[in-house]
Amino acid sequence: MKQAAKPAKFLYGCDDYDALDTVPKYLDQSKFAPYLGFPLCNVPSPGDSASDYAKYFMGEFLEVFDYLGIKPEVYYLRDLYRTGKLNNYIDKFLQNAHLVREVYKQVSKAERAENWYPFQVICENCGKIATTAVTDYNGSEVFYRCQPDGTDWVQGCGHSGWVSPFDGNGKLPWKVEWVAKWDLLGVTIELAGKDHSQKGGSRDVANGICRKVLQKQPPFHSPYEFILVNGTKMSSSKGVGSSAKEIAALLPAEQLRFLMLRTQPKTAINFAPNYETITRLFRDYDTLNSKYQDRPELSQDIMPLFYSQLESEIKTYQPFELSTIISLLQIPGLEIVQELDKRIGKPLSELDWQVLNQRISVAEKWLADYADEEEKLVIYWDAVPQQARSLTASQLTYLSKLAEKLSAATTWDAEDLQTTIFTTTKELEIKPNVAFPAIYLSFLGKERGPKAGGLLSYLEKEFAIARIKEVISNQIEYP
Ligand SMILES: [Zn+2]
Repeated sequence: MKQAAKPAKFLYGCDDYDALDTVPKYLDQSKFAPYLGFPLCNVPSPGDSASDYAKYFMGEFLEVFDYLGIKPEVYYLRDLYRTGKLNNYIDKFLQNAHLVREVYKQVSKAERAENWYPFQVICENCGKIATTAVTDYNGSEVFYRCQPDGTDWVQGCGHSGWVSPFDGNGKLPWKVEWVAKWDLLGVTIELAGKDHSQKGGSRDVANGICRKVLQKQPPFHSPYEFILVNGTKMSSSKGVGSSAKEIAALLPAEQLRFLMLRTQPKTAINFAPNYETITRLFRDYDTLNSKYQDRPELSQDIMPLFYSQLESEIKTYQPFELSTIISLLQIPGLEIVQELDKRIGKPLSELDWQVLNQRISVAEKWLADYADEEEKLVIYWDAVPQQARSLTASQLTYLSKLAEKLSAATTWDAEDLQTTIFTTTKELEIKPNVAFPAIYLSFLGKERGPKAGGLLSYLEKEFAIARIKEVISNQIEYP
């Protein structure tokens, strides 16, 4: 919209008249369980940063929005209800309860009793909203009962009586509420998760109510997919590693936007914060950045990069591999900033340094919170790893030729080393999948590792050559 220079407004609603239906595991159960069934805005806040439960968790979301440069206009359902803005809709849907029941039946095959009314009162006796059922409406008051067996997760108190449904005394069921919000706020586009978008699903029911009761066209709709983290739906109630807040703490805003915006609509995003995924995300971002630097025009393939920016232009920088930073951070005694400066070997702009420092933080955070043991770079400094004591004859031939070439090498940078490592396999006609493990086994005690040229470049030349020679002379002889 912004790109098309059309005025647009992004509204984000907090459904805080919905009931608390579970207490997340990380909260004090004894404190919050008594509030099960209460509207979220009437549940106490878990922390001092907010006045109530709904605002506390919305606060977390809004921080992430802010971080990502997303600027919605936020509204709270409690305000729409309490200020009476929804009164007309409440009256309309209660007067036309029979039509609402008809839509439920036709669209979702859900049968509602003759005396079912689309409204839930906040029980005047116990404060719960989840347990109440309305069975009559006289034009100004509804009759309700707080049902002991209304739900299977919380019990009502049994209270019953007549009360006004207006000015915040209760709420519409959410599919009906959805329709009221569309009309009140003038919504023209509303996407919905694919779980709500199936045939006969919530969105179809809401569309049906909109047409039948309000006699209006519902807003444009398209289903959206989920963002999965390690294959599970992102949720704030699951704890470590799966909330928007935690992913935002790991990834800079541009890369997090890039992760989402480079994915085609209607495709699930599965973000596993492992070595492979995270280093590739930065590499792909850098590739587009370099492409744009070479040819600064907004071609189709550049658009994901363009939309990932927090500002309206793409700023190019000197790219630097996250994987290398992750490796270098694990070399004991190495001064990371000095080392990077040396490796890049040319003056960096202020923005280049910003990007680089940001990546150092990402790499540190990833190593501390996400890397598993397999993904960490553990160099055997003191002795030849046990695993490198039984190499094959061709692996040993390869290592001895490599040691020779490394001794003669005049430079010690990652790319030249990678070339040497590779041409040696060609000269000896040894397959890379035989040769490379010999290198990794010699230093890491495992068959795989970061780019081999990079690995050697992290080490002192003398150490690397001495180690290879030691590996050759240290073989266990089998009779
Ligand atoms: Zn009650």
